Amino acid sequence: MTKRIVVYRRLPEDLLAQLKRDFHVDDFGHLEDLDDPTFRAALAEAHGLVGAGQPITPALLDAAPQLEAISSVSVGVDAYPVEELTRRGIQLCNTPDVLTETTADTGFLLIMATARRAVELADFIRRGDWQASLGEMHFGSDVHGKTLGMIGMGRIGAAIARRGALGFGMRILYSNASPKPALEEELGAQRRELDALLGEADFVCVTVPLSAETERLIGAREFALMRPSTIFVNIARGKVVDEAALIEALEAGRIRAAGLDVFEREPLPADSPLPHMANVVALPHIGSATHETRRAMSQRAVDNIRLSLSGERPLSPVNEPATARA
Ligand code: NAP
Repeated sequence: MTKRIVVYRRLPEDLLAQLKRDFHVDDFGHLEDLDDPTFRAALAEAHGLVGAGQPITPALLDAAPQLEAISSVSVGVDAYPVEELTRRGIQLCNTPDVLTETTADTGFLLIMATARRAVELADFIRRGDWQASLGEMHFGSDVHGKTLGMIGMGRIGAAIARRGALGFGMRILYSNASPKPALEEELGAQRRELDALLGEADFVCVTVPLSAETERLIGAREFALMRPSTIFVNIARGKVVDEAALIEALEAGRIRAAGLDVFEREPLPADSPLPHMANVVALPHIGSATHETRRAMSQRAVDNIRLSLSGERPLSPVNEPATARA
């Protein structure tokens, strides 16, 4: 029997063709609405699912009784009920590593752009306001030599810290579930309790995954611990931060600026004040969005689903369901 795969994220044609050699593929391109009746009908017969973004609920899983594996085209797995998938014997895979450096580049872009007010001053020229050489009111802050506080020191956190320490001579602090002695050795990084890091760092950069533990990890109390000169960067997930508290901290001058790639609701609602604030650089969730990296993520997702449905170990499993490769 040829197994069936449902795809709801756009994949390159040649990678879809690879899958079609061995599987029946129902390709929905980029599908936003997972309640779409045609998608639901395809799900009823699906053995594999490839996509990203929208939450996968237990109700949706009920509509896919034959499902053996889900391959997410992302490293973050906050959209999936991981324990429920394991309980149902469904393999979940993601795309770590291949996006680490690109996402770290985006994180550093936000550090640089906020510190040097790049977007605000580019807009200044665009408006025709550059009539004389600039004075203090348009100066930014140095990045080199400053203290970078990483909240989360996993793959992406370490890659951002490496850029800071080795490229910009920054002192690295980190707050992380486990200690990272190799990075302490390599970068001179020092581990801190979260509260201490917030008070000490010039740049606070969030790279923890979204989970029940990290949801709203940074709120009004945490912004109050930062200094008026602190620059806050979120490259992880919007819900790790209490966005209303962030807006309040920016408006009240409790922190200097924010660089944001991710938001509580995406796409960002039209009435959000964030993109209109001069001290905010807001990007539309482009952490991994380069041609090269999105291609590598798609390739990894295709390899993961092919291996999972062939009874082999995928390249990047998230869970270890007992029945997945029985
Ligand atoms: P990772 O290697 O798993 O790193 C996550 C780090 O966070 C780990 O070091 C982990 O600690 C730490 N951590 C987890 N829960 C924690 C907690 N409650 N308190 C303190 N530390 C905690 O993941 P990654 O590849 O770096 O990716 C991180 C996240 O970035 C993803 O989950 C995703 O949400 C986000 N992301 C965003 C984009 C974007 O486009 N903006 C792109 C890619 C990824 P241990 O080392 O002790 O386990």
